Amino acid sequence: MRVSRPLLATLICAATTLAATAPAAAAATPSGEQPLTAFPYTPSLDVSAMDRNADPCVDFYQYSCGGWMKQNPIPSDQASWSVYGKLYQDNQRFLWGILDELARQPAGRNDSQQKIGDYFAACMDEGAIEAAGAKPLAGMLASIKAMRNKSALPALLAQLQLQTGDSGFLFSFGSNQDFGDSAQVIAFADAGGLGLPDRDYYTDTDAHAQQLRKQYIQHVASVFRQLGEAPATAAHDAATVLDMETQLARASLKVVDRRDPYKLYHRLDRAAARQLTPHFEWEAFLKPLQLGEVAALNITEPKFYAAVDALIATASLADLKTYLRWHAAHAAAPYLSKRFEDQRFAFFDHTLRGVPLQKPRWKRCVAQVDALLGEALGREFVSRTFGPDLKAATLKMTTQIQQAMRQDIEQLDWMSDATKHQALAKLDTMVNKIGYPDRWRDYSPVAIHRDDYFGNVQHANLFEGRRQLAKIGKPLDRSEWGMTPPTVNAYYNPQMNDINFPAGVLQPPLYDAKLDDAPNYGNTGGTIGHELTHGFDDEGRQFDAMGNLKDWWAAADAEQFTERTQCIIDQYAQYVVVDDIHINSKLTVGEDAADLGGLILAHMAWAAQTASQTLENRDGLTPEQRFFVGYAQWACNNDRPENQRLHAKTDPHSPGKYRVNGLVVNMPEFERTFACKAPQPMVSVKRCRVW
Ligand SMILES: [Zn+2]
Repeated sequence: MRVSRPLLATLICAATTLAATAPAAAAATPSGEQPLTAFPYTPSLDVSAMDRNADPCVDFYQYSCGGWMKQNPIPSDQASWSVYGKLYQDNQRFLWGILDELARQPAGRNDSQQKIGDYFAACMDEGAIEAAGAKPLAGMLASIKAMRNKSALPALLAQLQLQTGDSGFLFSFGSNQDFGDSAQVIAFADAGGLGLPDRDYYTDTDAHAQQLRKQYIQHVASVFRQLGEAPATAAHDAATVLDMETQLARASLKVVDRRDPYKLYHRLDRAAARQLTPHFEWEAFLKPLQLGEVAALNITEPKFYAAVDALIATASLADLKTYLRWHAAHAAAPYLSKRFEDQRFAFFDHTLRGVPLQKPRWKRCVAQVDALLGEALGREFVSRTFGPDLKAATLKMTTQIQQAMRQDIEQLDWMSDATKHQALAKLDTMVNKIGYPDRWRDYSPVAIHRDDYFGNVQHANLFEGRRQLAKIGKPLDRSEWGMTPPTVNAYYNPQMNDINFPAGVLQPPLYDAKLDDAPNYGNTGGTIGHELTHGFDDEGRQFDAMGNLKDWWAAADAEQFTERTQCIIDQYAQYVVVDDIHINSKLTVGEDAADLGGLILAHMAWAAQTASQTLENRDGLTPEQRFFVGYAQWACNNDRPENQRLHAKTDPHSPGKYRVNGLVVNMPEFERTFACKAPQPMVSVKRCRVW
């Protein structure tokens, strides 16, 4: 499925991105699940989620989340479970209610209600999907089979990428703001072409990685058998796929290196692109995408494209077809009959993430509508859940936290006035997007029919693919959102210099209009601060106020910054994720620093907000304690070991436990609030602080 999120945007939390990628199938509906017509209410500070027997100075995460962890075992269709995941599921059930009604009552629907209602109805029609079997795949397989020579490859890749929105066909291609001139949208040719979640899965040599590759080959072979190959041929073809993907993986950047935008910026004109890939005709690729006139493209990873070129030059036509056949089946599997979905689930969710059971069909269909027609669905969601009062309150909180950041920057003792001036200019230019976009996307060109499920998927993919590519060479639309309104997540985009808070993340138990300020500033305030801070993290700080990749830091200040973030890298490197795997803290430093900076800013904003109020204790907690417990309770989670291993390799976020404990040890405000004393574990002898 297409991911429209900007290349560099950084998120608060990974829970929902996970949920959106997992495929699912029929049956196994946890008993009693029904569509919702209203949200179930959980307060943003829930004392029953705490473990009062734990000592907050020894393990603050256990103290704040011990009850939650006990009461919330991981559901059998989930890889992990969290406060975010649970809210995401409530959102899904609420959207299910909306879609179910629109699917059942065709009379009186407007155009966009027709589209989402009929998409959902077609997606839920398992009888028709079963009857279609592998037939929907036939068109793509026939195009691959018909390729007569390698010079036909570029046009075929253009077609397959556009039809599926999948990045598995040798490389990934789309549009993005030019790093050097953020007002321009240019073509981006990025790395891709893999089946496993990251390049390291192909190159790691430990026993666990070797075992996974064996299981991956078995999975690919089983898919080839489904397509009608004899077992020996299927096994041979699967080995070919692994070999080709390994060549691409070896040439791909490591995930840590991809945090450095300079390593992803190589703007080449057409002649230079031709030179880099002499065996790949860019003209033949760009023309069917209606980009024949494009003068330059950003080849994010030239070394990767050299490997693509070498692969095209050396692989036989038959092997290239084998590789494409696998990726076509893999991209289509979530939309085909049960046997395809079952196979995909068995490897990608059960083996890789430890999920015991497939998701019920309704969840998968809701997630698809959100991914493919998200602003049409979002419009329905917003009209029911996000009134003007909520928008005004959350916007006010955002402004207060921006003021806190201004004050914080002005007071910094390690930054020169010249750099401060630039930092404040960036802060003042930052745009707050709260709840939903000002202008809704128009889906009228997307044809959606109740009796053509696979056609709907292709039409929606094509619409989104063309929409992304049509931006190239046009003025930038700064009002666009990279997440849909029901999403339980938030992001900062350094190229747009905007923070984005969808309506879905501004609901209880995250933002709770019924509760006092303390937990709200700790929780949602901390998240707003987190996103603001991303504008100034190891990645975001390299972009200026207008979103251009440009160094605006005095050298000595940059050095100070690096030294301070190194403190966080060293601290988090000590924490264990699972078994003997430690946090890859060079990958997580941006998020870890944003967590810390965000809560410091939220604390300042809360102090300003409540300066003239008399605050009272509640539930045996002081207001200060409620601030910190309110913060911690956003991060309560349970995780499966397989999923923890996957995240340790790919996720820029630390596990929830350390997003709480790793943070509070750095805050003297916390130490005072709970009267902790060294050498208790929640008191750090060497405190880290950037902002
Ligand atoms: Zn983040």
